[in-house]
Amino acid sequence: MPKKKQMIYTDTHSHLYDQAFDTDRGEVLQRALTYGVKKIILPNVDSTTIDDMIAMEEKYSSVCECLMGVHPTSLTDENVEKEMETVEKWLEKRPFAGIGEIGMDLYWDATYKDVQVKAFDTQLTWAEKYKYPVSIHSRNAMNETLEVLSSHCVKGVMHCFSGTLDDAEKILSMGLFLGVGGTVTYKNNTLKDVIRSVGYQNIVFETDAPYLSPVPHRGKRNESSYIPDIAAFVAQYCGVDMEKLCFAVQKNAESIFSL
Ligand SMILES: [Zn+2]
Repeated sequence: MPKKKQMIYTDTHSHLYDQAFDTDRGEVLQRALTYGVKKIILPNVDSTTIDDMIAMEEKYSSVCECLMGVHPTSLTDENVEKEMETVEKWLEKRPFAGIGEIGMDLYWDATYKDVQVKAFDTQLTWAEKYKYPVSIHSRNAMNETLEVLSSHCVKGVMHCFSGTLDDAEKILSMGLFLGVGGTVTYKNNTLKDVIRSVGYQNIVFETDAPYLSPVPHRGKRNESSYIPDIAAFVAQYCGVDMEKLCFAVQKNAESIFSL
């Protein structure tokens, strides 16, 4: 039997610096490498996660690359100025693989909608200034997200995409890619059909670890070594050869984040 060719993957969105991995981070990373996940993009959350994220990148510099930005749910009227100032300073201080994660989230409440819009808009301006790709978080706020995006010209990923086919088409027309993770494997999730319609050429893989594990790991802590499960599901559902799919998706990740 010929030896099976191993695929190469990038996890374009993982919070591997999260305390959920405090006891076995090194093993988790090793497992990712064993399964072919050679690069892991670490998106920031806010000023409290920067040190852990950067420490992780320093320790595993051949695998991990950091993004800088502040997540919409971390923002309030009181802290927005300070949080934005922190991001801006870090961007001046050293290079990053991109800006993230940034965006809009009106799932829990819409109290800080205006703050989110302003912070998202400003961070997109920084992405344009530094010519950095973006990792965008959008939850219960697709119209608002697209509205802010429409006045900018950025490349990047709509992370954990959960919109309609119409939303997907708008996003792709802006030159962005769809971030596809564990949710695509969930029974009633419509993302698989969106991918079948727009084509696997428009996606990248991600975990959003430690959240949103794919089937058959659903409910447990997520990790980058599950990326091949996501890829296998998409390949099968779209009826496309696994090698062809992984090659195209990996090329997308490499070009977006200049890997
Ligand atoms: Zn995230």
